Amino acid sequence: VKSKAEKDANQHINVVVRCRPMNEAEKKRGSHNVVEVDQNKGEVTIKEKLLPLAHTKTFNYDRVFGPNTKQISVYKEVVVPVIDEVLMGYNCTIFAYGQTGTGKTFTMEGERSNNMTCSWEEDPLAGIIPRSLHQLFERLNKQDIEFSMRISYIELYNEELYDLLNSSEEPLRLRIYEDSAKKGSVIINGMEEAVVTNKDDVYNILEMGAAKRQTAATLLNAQSSRSHSVFSVTLHMKENTIDGEELLKTGKLNLVDLAGSENIGRSGAVEKRAKEAGNINQSLLTLGRVITALVEHAPHIPYRESKLTRLLQDSLGGRTKTSIIATVSPASCNFEETVSTLDYAHRAK
Ligand code: ADP
Ligand code: MG
Repeated sequence: VKSKAEKDANQHINVVVRCRPMNEAEKKRGSHNVVEVDQNKGEVTIKEKLLPLAHTKTFNYDRVFGPNTKQISVYKEVVVPVIDEVLMGYNCTIFAYGQTGTGKTFTMEGERSNNMTCSWEEDPLAGIIPRSLHQLFERLNKQDIEFSMRISYIELYNEELYDLLNSSEEPLRLRIYEDSAKKGSVIINGMEEAVVTNKDDVYNILEMGAAKRQTAATLLNAQSSRSHSVFSVTLHMKENTIDGEELLKTGKLNLVDLAGSENIGRSGAVEKRAKEAGNINQSLLTLGRVITALVEHAPHIPYRESKLTRLLQDSLGGRTKTSIIATVSPASCNFEETVSTLDYAHRAK
């Protein structure tokens, strides 16, 4: 029997908030800043001066990042510890959660600067995916570990899975089955897994996946803010220990760019109406419930209630590490959505 402290240590979910700078559109609308970030205290305060006092709220997180935070800082503070775990043979997941336009993709993938000739991971705008892959290869090669790395890239839209690595013209729908041989694991039928040996292989795959995401969205007439993308790295490692033993380890890293949190709907009556109108995102909603259940050590974790949580079941809870990066806008025009993102993220703690 595990002590509560042990359980807490095991199931701790790292929750951080990143606030992006105000953008031109927000300034043009005459929006003012309503978000204050105290990096030392790990606190975010949202304050609407034009509303009564009741509308000042302060939340605490494991870490908070203000508008001037560089990609490299987010990487160092949030991702490096996760990479350590993956190399030790654990399953880890990093989620980007937030309203559309607040920087989920900027954080996960990042962008490329104009007139930059260096490789992607050296670009100051590179996000978590290129930096992680680069570091994984660096460390594996330096430590002289025999390894094989496989990549998969999936998009989840309307509770259907699509393979972004498949080369067919039409979006290829995938099916999930329970793995009868391994409890809590799933098999995704027909999913493409690319074996990669260096970071350039990965960058090519990412480019292909992004193009695929575009065509799939067009063909399905899909709203991209409603889809989730799941980029997964599976790492098989073989290490020779000092006493001449072979040590086999498998680590996994899932990097998830979630659907816009505005798709989660509100509680109660509104939620029901939204659901009927098909405006609710089942996976986003269930993810919240699964995380709450994990945090509260509930006896039943509702993994099976959505495709996203089924897909990630072996990487959520138990001896895994989960990080959530909640992204927000500082602008008064997004006040409501920002409060709701801060709330959701706070509940995951
Ligand atoms: P999302 O994926 O959440 O919809 P994006 O990542 O596409 O949002 O970001 C929306 C816009 O805001 C992009 O033009 C991006 O360059 C910009 N942006 C997002 N986060 C930041 C940031 N931290 N610093 C500077 N620009 C940002
Ligand atoms: Mg995006």
